Amino acid sequence: MSNGPILILGGTAEASKLAARLVVQGHRVISSLAGRTRDPAKLEGEVRIGGFGGARGLIGYIVRENVSLLIDATHPFATQISDNALLAVASTNIPFVRLERPVWHPKPGDNWTSVTSLERAVSAIPAKARVLLALGRQHIAPFSRRGDVHFVVRMIDPPEIPLDLIDFELELSKPGKVEDEAAFLTKKRLTHIVCRNSGGSASYTKIRAARDLGLPVIMIDRPHRPDTNTLPDIESVSHFIDTTFGSLRT
Ligand code: NAP
Repeated sequence: MSNGPILILGGTAEASKLAARLVVQGHRVISSLAGRTRDPAKLEGEVRIGGFGGARGLIGYIVRENVSLLIDATHPFATQISDNALLAVASTNIPFVRLERPVWHPKPGDNWTSVTSLERAVSAIPAKARVLLALGRQHIAPFSRRGDVHFVVRMIDPPEIPLDLIDFELELSKPGKVEDEAAFLTKKRLTHIVCRNSGGSASYTKIRAARDLGLPVIMIDRPHRPDTNTLPDIESVSHFIDTTFGSLRT
């Protein structure tokens, strides 16, 4: 077993917490970010930013840096980098684990329409609805054909190019507590939410608020992906590393 660094493919809150945990435990950790967020939160350990140049680039990086364990802790909807990670692991034969937060399941009182794509979400919105579009800027364009719908688009960073929607308002904020989300949905007279089944707690508050208010949610399902050595939380990944790769500690 090599004593090289652990490489975490990150960009999620879980990845950042995992990096902090592993650094405290004495591991050398490199977190990799795509570079999409303008002002990323500070990470413990080393950080590299930007694409690798496909699976081949990732393989080259792993070999050059003598990476001893690859952790894919990217977002459930970030499929390209995860595919590249599996190709890189198959090629380099280093140990691998994926950290993926569990999906949300509907609970009593929820009124969800589950769809398998953005395009189906566009079609599922009834005419004259007022919709909270809780999606990243790169997922907004398909909704431009719904001129009969008022959209409230919530984002953390302002979009770099104007949004291509006909009837909309932009809200630059993060999800709040359940009561804040309920107040926001009520104030904006929203009738529906469109979001992705991202899992986790930070963006679940709007789902809870929708349940409390009886609002329908159009939920975009996660893409299918191989569940190769996938664990649901930081504790499980940390335990996996401790039991299987204890010799990685520096
Ligand atoms: P993606 O479609 O799976 O990846 C596209 C390309 O971006 C990859 O081929 C890779 O470029 C580069 N890339 C992605 N993640 C990277 C990472 N952690 N480190 C280095 N390069 C990375 O990814 P995405 O959906 O655009 O997401 C990009 C990042 O944002 C990920 O780190 C993800 O965890 C985070 N994020 C995504 C979402 C989402 O909704 N998709 C939400 C929250 C956070 P090369 O091929 O050149 O290596």
